[in-house]
Amino acid sequence: MSNLPAVVFESVSRHFGDVKAVDSVSMTVHDGEFFSMLGPSGSGKTTCLRLIAGFERPSAGKILLYGKDVSQLPPYERDVNTVFQDYALFPHMTVGENVAYGLMIKNVSKPVREKRAEEMLDMVQLGGMSVRKPSQLSGGQRQRVALARALINQPKVLLLDEPLGALDLKLRQQMQVELKAIQQRVGITFIFVTHDQEEALTMSDRLAVFNQGKIEQVGSPAEVYEHPSTPFVAGFVGTSNLVKGAMAEKITGSEDTFSIRPEKIHLSPPNALQSADEYAVDGRVRDVIYLGLFTRYLVEMDGGGDLVVVEQNLKTTSMEVLAAKNQPVRLLWKKEHVRRIGG
Ligand code: ATP
Repeated sequence: MSNLPAVVFESVSRHFGDVKAVDSVSMTVHDGEFFSMLGPSGSGKTTCLRLIAGFERPSAGKILLYGKDVSQLPPYERDVNTVFQDYALFPHMTVGENVAYGLMIKNVSKPVREKRAEEMLDMVQLGGMSVRKPSQLSGGQRQRVALARALINQPKVLLLDEPLGALDLKLRQQMQVELKAIQQRVGITFIFVTHDQEEALTMSDRLAVFNQGKIEQVGSPAEVYEHPSTPFVAGFVGTSNLVKGAMAEKITGSEDTFSIRPEKIHLSPPNALQSADEYAVDGRVRDVIYLGLFTRYLVEMDGGGDLVVVEQNLKTTSMEVLAAKNQPVRLLWKKEHVRRIGG
């Protein structure tokens, strides 16, 4: 572990003509951290990754890798490696040769690189697969080969650009857990780009939420989820209800915009008692979507506006939840779950 941060951005911008792909971004990624850059398509996260890798140069600002200004250095002079979504394995080489490639370029002897490749394959749970060709592997296995290949040179920082994007949901969820376990085993700083908020929340020590070339918030998954600092973050990370103006005043006594997560709201019968630590609003169920494990209700509040409510189907059947449609309800939630957010 180093005391120096792995990566520092000091007011970094990257403009392409009029497009401000990255717009004065400052951030710090700590040594040994699993750090995600999360944001919608076009928000600038891949450009940030390419700036760290050296495939792009900043239009303004400074990039430090372990304290060294690398802003103008070419990729091969930076101690980083990148794993891409499309794996980029060499199809004519065996799995073992693919993994050992980085060592071959450095003229490491064949027995040593074969031994190291086998160790790396063991680490990603592909021991004994070194003689296969990439075409004889599944998508998830190919992804792990790409990871082993990127890690064999022991880079200080590993950059991952939507590496799980091509996998189906089940495999992706499995790989999320594996990737995090591998990162903890090797102790290398991982910087991970994704537009999938669940993925970022599952794996990251901290994440940065990008929007239009800027970072809106940096924090741990719990901080970002439970204390979104802007309306954009509240909407993008998980589902959130935003209540503004007159409706906010009616419920909380203040006109300030607030957010409330759907799972924090309880759907109760009309006239259910409201305790002192709760807010309440009456409404009517406009729509019910039964999703197996839980049900999503869309409730139209008396006085206008909708709130999304999610409840687990612990005791209810699908027939019971669907019967709630068009019924009057009272929504109750604890005051402590309300987040006031700036504009
Ligand atoms: P995605 O998830 O779709 O990859 P992203 O958040 O990674 O999106 P970037 O790829 O960083 O976004 O792109 C940010 C903006 O910069 C986009 O509007 C994109 O069109 C623009 N951009 C990126 N690279 C270039 C380039 N080489 N030339 C011109 N514009 C570019």
